[in-house]
Amino acid sequence: MELPTADIDYPRSFGEFQTWFQSDADCLDYLEWLRWPTGFVCPACGQAGGWRLGDGRYMCTHCDNRTSVTAGTIFDRTRTPLTVWFAACWNFASGKDGISALSLKRSLQIGSYQTAWAMLHRLRSALVRPDRERLRGRVEVDETYIGGIEPGLVGGRAQGKKVLTCIAVELLQPSGFGRCRMAPIADASSDSLQAFVLANVEPGATVVTDGWPPYRGLEQKGYIHERRSQRARGRPGRALAGRTSNCVPGKALAARDPPRSGGRCALAQLSQRIRVPLQPPTFAQPRAVVLPDLGTGCCS
Ligand SMILES: [Zn+2]
Repeated sequence: MELPTADIDYPRSFGEFQTWFQSDADCLDYLEWLRWPTGFVCPACGQAGGWRLGDGRYMCTHCDNRTSVTAGTIFDRTRTPLTVWFAACWNFASGKDGISALSLKRSLQIGSYQTAWAMLHRLRSALVRPDRERLRGRVEVDETYIGGIEPGLVGGRAQGKKVLTCIAVELLQPSGFGRCRMAPIADASSDSLQAFVLANVEPGATVVTDGWPPYRGLEQKGYIHERRSQRARGRPGRALAGRTSNCVPGKALAARDPPRSGGRCALAQLSQRIRVPLQPPTFAQPRAVVLPDLGTGCCS
């Protein structure tokens, strides 16, 4: 199958985008063309051929399976109109510095912050290649607390508002950064940190860490471990990191464990470049499916 081509199969400007996608039907038509460029192919049995039902779904002529073009995609089971989804895609892809959930909510007049956050979460998840390779070469690994400032709270922060996150960044020569991996971890123990390194860094790579003791033992796992132990001195925040991630002392931690300054540390600069949502939203109840269920045999 021939992949879509930039400047031909995608709108080249916002004006063109608005012309192409004026209704949900336009969006569905475009998705069908992207997914089944030579006609409907049943995702259940793999056979080509089917007919379109009144509700927009397709029925396979071989196994009677009913499915929609959005099944299994980021647009699956959502109540948000596809036109809003497509506009979110445009904003997400064209924003030079990324886009926050609050900004998306305002610009598209989305009803709730949680909906905008969930949309961005799905879009970001689509950027992750499932079989991506682990980081190679020289990789700096460190962990930090991520979380936003909460209005109205002075002198402290409620428990559970920050997430302990481990970050790995490829260091390029003579300078610059390559790929990056981030993941929340339960605590800063040896099990958590080294499991993150194993999952994200190819054995044989040089792993650069600070002197935090739980990083010891990476050599036995096949890495070249470069420790910058002098950075560990005078960092009492480490003791706090060893506790549960729910225990965040807020300002005290920030004061005693400040961000590293200067251009020597890759991770310190990354924190200014990556936009992270303040906190995950909570959904009171599962969201309904977008399409009505016409009976059994539906795989969407
Ligand atoms: Zn089928």
